[in-house]
Amino acid sequence: MNMDNSKIRRSSADSALRRQSYGASATKAQATAGNVGGGGIYLGIGGNIGDRELNLTRALTIISAHPDMRLLRVSSFYRTSPWGVTEQPWFLNAICEIGTVIYPAALLEELKWIERILGREKSTPRWGPRAIDLDIILYRSIVMRTPLLTIPHKHCTERLFVLMPLVEIAPCIVHPETGVSFRNYLDELLKTQPEEACLKYNQIAYKKP
Ligand code: AMP
Repeated sequence: MNMDNSKIRRSSADSALRRQSYGASATKAQATAGNVGGGGIYLGIGGNIGDRELNLTRALTIISAHPDMRLLRVSSFYRTSPWGVTEQPWFLNAICEIGTVIYPAALLEELKWIERILGREKSTPRWGPRAIDLDIILYRSIVMRTPLLTIPHKHCTERLFVLMPLVEIAPCIVHPETGVSFRNYLDELLKTQPEEACLKYNQIAYKKP
């Protein structure tokens, strides 16, 4: 499915900021009694500053408490080598699957809002150190490219820290543009990159509070 800018609903981040805390007021999605869609939306979560495990867990807790999102599955946490800027501490990464009716551009704003809550600096350099990074990896079968958003995520087929946790929780999932399975992309990448670059950090990554 292709989607252009005009079809993307405006961000709900401002209203989320105004709500201050979840549950303060009913949103449109809440009004539909928990209608948060059927899943198939995969988010990448990572960080390499501070208590990495705590930051990832906090992000997942906020997502699971979000009135317009349902946290469906969470991968193990993976200890991964930095990508792009290699002279920086190792990252902890995971993938989660959510259900939501928030459209992609607004979802990106919600994720940025969560990043800010968790202390992410606005001016974080590209691929540089960060307390928390939230990316939309896949949004069901949507394919879109806008100046702000590329879905599927631009690098989702070439990063172990995306492919390993993604294939762990969704072993049969297929790239919506190419039709190639992510398991296939992972197998190809492992021919050129050492598996040690992305090691399982813990099996039971996240338990809902
Ligand atoms: P990052 O440094 O990973 O936080 O990404 C910075 C910018 O990438 C964001 O402000 C987005 O505008 C852009 N971006 C493009 N595609 C995506 C995506 N699929 N998920 C998250 N951010 C994206």
